[in-house]
Amino acid sequence: MDARTHDTNRADAIVVGAGLAGLVAASELLDAGRRVIIVEQEPEASFGGQAWWSFGGLFLVDSPEQRRLGVRDSLDLARQDWFGSAGFDRDEDAWPRRWAEAYLEFAAGEKRHWLRGKGVKFFPVVGWAERGGDRATSHGNSVPRFHITWGTGPGVLEPFVRRVREGVAEGRARLAFRHRVDRLEVEGGTVVGVSGATLAPDSAARGEPSNRNVTDDFEFRADAVLVASGGIGGNHDLVREQWPIRLGTPPDHLLSGVPAHVDGRMLGIARDAGGRLINGDRMWHYVEGIKNHSPVWASHGIRILPGPSSLWLDARGHRLPTPLFPGFDTLATLEHLVATGHDHSWFVLNQRILEKEFALSGSEQNPDLTGRDLKLLASSRLGKGAPGPVEAFKERGADFLVANTLPELLAKMRQRSPDLLDVDRVRHEVEARDRELENPFGKDAQLAAIRQARRYRGDRLIRVAPLGPLTDPKAGPLIAVQLHILTRKSLGGLETDLRGRVLGDAGEPVPGLYAAGEASGFGGGGMHGYRSLEGTFLGGCLFSGRTAGRAIAAALS
Ligand SMILES: Cc1cc2nc3c(=O)[nH]c(=O)nc-3n(C[C@H](O)[C@H](O)[C@H](O)COP(=O)(O)OP(=O)(O)OC[C@H]3O[C@@H](n4cnc5c(N)ncnc54)[C@H](O)[C@@H]3O)c2cc1C
Repeated sequence: MDARTHDTNRADAIVVGAGLAGLVAASELLDAGRRVIIVEQEPEASFGGQAWWSFGGLFLVDSPEQRRLGVRDSLDLARQDWFGSAGFDRDEDAWPRRWAEAYLEFAAGEKRHWLRGKGVKFFPVVGWAERGGDRATSHGNSVPRFHITWGTGPGVLEPFVRRVREGVAEGRARLAFRHRVDRLEVEGGTVVGVSGATLAPDSAARGEPSNRNVTDDFEFRADAVLVASGGIGGNHDLVREQWPIRLGTPPDHLLSGVPAHVDGRMLGIARDAGGRLINGDRMWHYVEGIKNHSPVWASHGIRILPGPSSLWLDARGHRLPTPLFPGFDTLATLEHLVATGHDHSWFVLNQRILEKEFALSGSEQNPDLTGRDLKLLASSRLGKGAPGPVEAFKERGADFLVANTLPELLAKMRQRSPDLLDVDRVRHEVEARDRELENPFGKDAQLAAIRQARRYRGDRLIRVAPLGPLTDPKAGPLIAVQLHILTRKSLGGLETDLRGRVLGDAGEPVPGLYAAGEASGFGGGGMHGYRSLEGTFLGGCLFSGRTAGRAIAAALS
């Protein structure tokens, strides 16, 4: 036996980060007969990284689930939507464009079959995220493509966690938790390993911040190192530093949609070893954040995945312009809101809309789908009342105001925002909107969009409430939700070629260095360009992790 196989600090490949991208790459390496060390700064409780918390929504093109619902999709339509959303316009976009093309082929081809082969299944109703609402060639999904994994985020992770655990049992994988990489070891221009600090044991539960007390140092060596360390969304200083001018001044108040370990630190470490970081100013944050009533990490926010019916008002009470309706265009809405000079906004709705249209992003907020519990699913999504976690936010969430009449609701809103909100304006907007419903046609673009959404069977079934006056007492009570900006994804990162090799400033691969997942902008250093069609982040981790894992295995043989 090779002497190296006895050395637990040496492997064929090192993967930095035990999130989805790292675990997919490690699984591929194990399948190829290779030895892997997975280095992870957090305790084992947080195994799986962000993906565990995720809703498990995956972008698929022309799937059987879409077809069953009467949706006609194609690679050409998806490409039109992707490039219309991405808006690639820089020299640095050369590799991101190629990654976008390759990813689209994957999403329209092998992706579903590959996942099904690993036991991953999908909820039959396909969601319609980022509807765009402008021209055919601009941002948004022309058709529903958001496929929710049966088992949500943990369901996406499951086969890869299982494969890595098997690798540990086989003696070919080592999981080094509480090991924080501080340096990439470079010899003669080639990355030959990683070194850093071992951190003190910590009993933090999943997602909770863990201590950074150093107990020792370590060094691991391998023929290839893959950086799969995630993005920057948990590091608000970095988010503010890289905040793009086009989005105005960084907001004063931000909620965190990701755990603290999404700290972006490893990106600088990879840059110091010769990797090029691109598109750091492209990021994907949400505007429908609410404060978690039971926070796991600091400033923990939950994103509402809204249906299209809530009335959306800025901090002063002015209705947002067309087509900035709930769920239509995340970044245009962010840009608009930041330009108002205030970082919060309002949804005004009623109980009927809440019950049908409020979904909360996150595995823990969807116990029916996460637990694959059909009985709970039927009672919570099709039965009376809002799903339990949504109702819990209505009851306990700091951002929810509930009232039986409009004057009562307005009084509560005024109390919440006495100096800023013009409640007469809010009353005017609500009454004007309701007046437009006298006819089955009219000039209000949001009402037209709701009518049109209900022509899609999936929306009619579980996602879009029938049109009716907000103030209808039978649809009550009335609800106002104060919404905050929530950090989530980094769209830029380490520039990589189509094998996942990290490129240096001269455009040449840095020998021995690879990147995948959010750390590589989900491929290429930013395959989304400026905007996402949603469900493309987990998918980007699957594809870039698989690609890099296979490329490393091929390079080693
Ligand atoms: C609540 C929520 C809902 C989401 N829903 C969806 C969805 O429905 N669809 C979708 O497509 N996407 C979704 N996402 C996004 C998606 O989950 C993430 O983009 C993706 O999981 C990122 O995976 P990753 O492997 O690149 O990074 P991560 O999951 O962040 O993993 C990186 C790991 O690297 C470790 N690490 C970092 N630096 C070091 C270091 N120096 N040394 C050692 N270890 C280090 C970190 O501790 C971490 O465990 C959601 C995210 C969240 C939080």
